[in-house]
Amino acid sequence: MKSLIVSCPRCQKKFNYYDSSFRPFCCEKCRLIDLGQWLNESYTVPVSKLTLEEAQQLEQLINEKNQNDEEDDKLH
Ligand SMILES: [Zn+2]
Repeated sequence: MKSLIVSCPRCQKKFNYYDSSFRPFCCEKCRLIDLGQWLNESYTVPVSKLTLEEAQQLEQLINEKNQNDEEDDKLH
């Protein structure tokens, strides 16, 4: 098993790069937070490539994922 310890760009937690399915992030949550920030930034750009409907769908997806992650955390 390969091992490469890196820091998550989102939460700075150290993790094995090869263990994460969400690299360069340590977990799905960090990846989604990053995506969420990108989405928030896109809201402030007057000309957005996303339609409002698409943005809402994406936001809903992020909220659902966050809820799933919170349930995962309880199991750990
Ligand atoms: Zn992280």
